[in-house]
Amino acid sequence: MSEREDLLADLLAHGRFLGTLSSVGVVRPAEAAEEPESARPRGEPPAAPRPEDPAAALVAIREDLGDCRRCKLWSGRKTIVFGQGDPRAELMFVGEGPGAEEDEQGLAFVGRAGQLLTDIIEKGLKIKRSEVYIANVIKCRAPQNRNPEPDEILACQPFLERQIDAIRPKVIVGLGKFGGQWLLKTAEPISRIRGRVGEYRGIKVVPTWHPAYLLRNPAAKKDVWEDMKTVLRLLGRPVPGPRD
Ligand code: URA
Repeated sequence: MSEREDLLADLLAHGRFLGTLSSVGVVRPAEAAEEPESARPRGEPPAAPRPEDPAAALVAIREDLGDCRRCKLWSGRKTIVFGQGDPRAELMFVGEGPGAEEDEQGLAFVGRAGQLLTDIIEKGLKIKRSEVYIANVIKCRAPQNRNPEPDEILACQPFLERQIDAIRPKVIVGLGKFGGQWLLKTAEPISRIRGRVGEYRGIKVVPTWHPAYLLRNPAAKKDVWEDMKTVLRLLGRPVPGPRD
């Protein structure tokens, strides 16, 4: 395929993705994203209060997920990667979907990208990884780690929404295109949405580069550091100066 054909195929796939999402009301029109809360279209779910027992709520969500076969990914997976961490976390991360290592272990972000995410959390933010919650837009590995497809994202969507409702973190970091776009209900590229603070049902959202992208493009780590300083400010935690 020529570069132009490649680009065209990409654009068409993107259009289909958006079409599916907007037809089921997942993506709001771009202008609606600028409107104040009160002007949002009817049907936008209100921010739910945190349940009294977030850990029990998460167990119930996992039980409802069961041996999920709601989309085609079930046939190729070894495990369902539900997500893990502190049910009362102030900070949550949402990535794209499990890779090979995550599929083996049943845990989110435990491969090479996961190691880098751990460094971002523990060395950068100075927060223990066990104190945050980490989940993905899709919970089953896609074949050859291809991008998640719209039906797969939609099948997982109610479960991720319920996880966020259970945890009600102060801040969610959207990792890469899929994490960022899902949280902000936008089709804007990650290169455009990162660097700005958004909102998901009243929770602050900080989109940033995916750690797997950072492994290929280490120069982008400086952007992630800027984003993590934003996270610290939003959490009301001290932000290290240049000499710290
Ligand atoms: N990449 C993701 O987006 N999620 C994981 O859990 C691992 C790698």
